[in-house]
Amino acid sequence: MINAYLLFIQKKYAIILPMKKEYLAKMGIDVFVPKEKTPSDPWKNLIEKVKKCKLCDLHTTRTQTVFGVGNQQAKLMLIGEAPGANEDLKGEPFVGRGGMLLNSMLASINLKRSDVYIANILKCRPPNNRDPLPNEVTLCTPYLIEQIDLMKPKLIVAVGRIAAQFLLNTKESMSKLRGHEYIYGPQNTPLLVTYHPAYLLRSPTEKSKAYQDMLLIKNKL
Ligand code: URA
Repeated sequence: MINAYLLFIQKKYAIILPMKKEYLAKMGIDVFVPKEKTPSDPWKNLIEKVKKCKLCDLHTTRTQTVFGVGNQQAKLMLIGEAPGANEDLKGEPFVGRGGMLLNSMLASINLKRSDVYIANILKCRPPNNRDPLPNEVTLCTPYLIEQIDLMKPKLIVAVGRIAAQFLLNTKESMSKLRGHEYIYGPQNTPLLVTYHPAYLLRSPTEKSKAYQDMLLIKNKL
């Protein structure tokens, strides 16, 4: 009976019900007020999922997972291959000498590391920095796809051959892949390709080409 009455007043006086609560309480009537749910943070959930991941054998050799770093609202998302030794220790992608060079590449177009978001295809370091195995890529890719989905970047840049070949599902060489715009994923995100900083450290004469790539990125943004 009381429930029916409450339903009636809820429907009729939905807006003033909060004010009536006090009077109803005085009458000894418990008013059920649903608790507001705190919205769960999808980034936090994903970070936690990755931290606990044991889908492939890389979890047995990692120091920690390397999820990604930077501005989750950025227009630009950089995607590399996999963490190396320094990244595995620090828990952050592209640190060490390669990371410093990547920072300089960004600075050449007036971007700071904190202006972009940086992630890798694999979230764990392959031992001895070997190339990712196909099953590792298959098992880890859903995390990257979810990152892209949450971030909705305006532009993705594949950093290095492995990332470019994976994201574009091709075996083409870097010299063929650079300098062109591609479309990636269900959100039709524009994608550009540039050299990996580790490659540029080994082949510094290619840095001028990397700068051309950076100008293309700047232009696109
Ligand atoms: N190489 C990558 O592709 N990613 C890193 O995070 C570090 C090195």
